[in-house]
Amino acid sequence: MSYKERIKNFFIRFKRLMVFGGVLALAIAVIGIVAYSSSMNVSLNTNQTVQTSAPTTVSFIMPVKDGVIVKDFSNTSLKYNSTLKQWESHKAVDIKSSDDSDVMAVMAGEIVSVENNYLKGTIITIKHNKSLQTVYSSLAEDVKVKVGDKVKQGTVIGKVSTSAKGESADGAHLHFEVLVDNVKVDPNLYLNTGDK
Ligand SMILES: [Zn+2]
Repeated sequence: MSYKERIKNFFIRFKRLMVFGGVLALAIAVIGIVAYSSSMNVSLNTNQTVQTSAPTTVSFIMPVKDGVIVKDFSNTSLKYNSTLKQWESHKAVDIKSSDDSDVMAVMAGEIVSVENNYLKGTIITIKHNKSLQTVYSSLAEDVKVKVGDKVKQGTVIGKVSTSAKGESADGAHLHFEVLVDNVKVDPNLYLNTGDK
């Protein structure tokens, strides 16, 4: 075999190899694209599931058994405060029940503050997650929890009372607030009042 023939043979073999290699690379690419796009679909579906299920995982119980909302949430419209004899926004719901009724955590969380305030009485704040907090005001001074306690949904944290001097004319009740990223929102969006 002459030197030229050897070179020719080499190129012929090389060409075949290149064609085979090209087909193989194309096949791998197609399989890769199919696998990648199907995995994208899966991850896209997972994201959608997480996004749609997030709000429904937040479900409150009523903080007072047999409690009735006697004063609703108002953000821009004003509600009359019969104690202070003035019209004001009421970024909470007032829940009335029989005197000395237990007040329960509406959802599992951690007690982040227990305070006393002249107008709002004894106040307990529970943090449920990064952005969601619930605030229970007008409680009896003798609370059942302290800062740092972990509570479950339904854990008794205190009792209703008239400790909120700013709402004492309404009798013993719970002044209940819901905060999302520190903004007071309508608790009715989360409360499961049963008959509503
Ligand atoms: Zn109130």
